[in-house]
Amino acid sequence: MVSPPESTLALYGAQLRRSNGAALLALHEWQLVGGRGDWLAQWQKRIPRVAAIVGAAQVTAASEAAGNVPEALEDTGFPERQLAVVEPKRFAGWTEHAPLLVVLSSPVIKARMASGSEDEMLAAGGRWLERMVSTLVADAGRAASGVQIAATEDTGWVRYEPAPYCQRCAPLVGKWFRHSQGFQRHPQCPAVHRPASRREPPRGYASRPDPDQVKDLTEAQKKALADGADLFKVVNSHRHKRMEPAGIGNVNRRGTPAWIYAQAGDDRAAAVRLFRQFGYLK
Ligand SMILES: [Zn+2]
Repeated sequence: MVSPPESTLALYGAQLRRSNGAALLALHEWQLVGGRGDWLAQWQKRIPRVAAIVGAAQVTAASEAAGNVPEALEDTGFPERQLAVVEPKRFAGWTEHAPLLVVLSSPVIKARMASGSEDEMLAAGGRWLERMVSTLVADAGRAASGVQIAATEDTGWVRYEPAPYCQRCAPLVGKWFRHSQGFQRHPQCPAVHRPASRREPPRGYASRPDPDQVKDLTEAQKKALADGADLFKVVNSHRHKRMEPAGIGNVNRRGTPAWIYAQAGDDRAAAVRLFRQFGYLK
C-alpha cells in the first residue's frame, strides 16, 4: 500500500474526530430522555439542540474536507487550478433523504422497537443515534470534498482509509475515480477522498491490498486464497450487499449532488455551473 499524502492522513483523523465528537454530544442529549413521560415528547424538546450540534459539525467537516483538496494535490506534486470554492454552510442540515429534524426523531422509534428493559431499549436508541450522527457529519465532509474535486481542473480522487479493510471496501482502495463518480460509503468505515490529479502517475496511489489487510475474511475465503485464488474474485463473489454511491442525495431529486453528477456527466464546467446554481459553490 502506497502511503497517502500527510494532509490526507490529517484529514482522515480530523473527520473521524469531528463525526465521533458530534455523535457523543448528541448521545449526551439522548441520555437525558427516560423515566416517566413520553420519550418522543422529551426527545422532541432536545432535537433543535441536537440539530444545531449536527449542523455545526457538518459545516466544519465540509470546510475541512473542501480545504484539504488543494493541499492534498500540492502534497502529491500535481497541484491543479480551482474553478470555484465550496460554500461550507450549504452542508448544514445535510441528509441523504428526509429532512434533518425528521431523521433525528428516529432514535425514539428504534428504542421503542428494541427488546429488553427500558434501559436496554433506550441504549439501543442511543447507539442508533450515535451511528446516524457520525454518518451525517462524515457524509457532509465527503460530499463537500466531492464538490471541491469537481470544481478543480483535471482532478479525480482515490479512496483512502487505513488498513485493515473490510472486504466490501478492500476492492475500492487505491482505485482512481472520476470527479463525477459518487463515493460508495460504508457507514462503519469512515473512508475519505484522496484528491488526485489526472497528471499524477498511478504509482503514487494505485495498490491492491494484501489478503492479510482484509479483516473479515471467512475461513472458506482464507482457504481459497491459500489455494491461490485471486483476492478480488474471492471478496466479490461473497454474498454481501453491493455498495451504492451514498451521502450525495437522491439522483432523481433536482439539485442534489447525485442529480448534478448525473446531469453533467463528465462535463466539469457543466457540473460547476450547476453546483454554483444550487449554492454548493461560491
Ligand atoms: Zn467497509
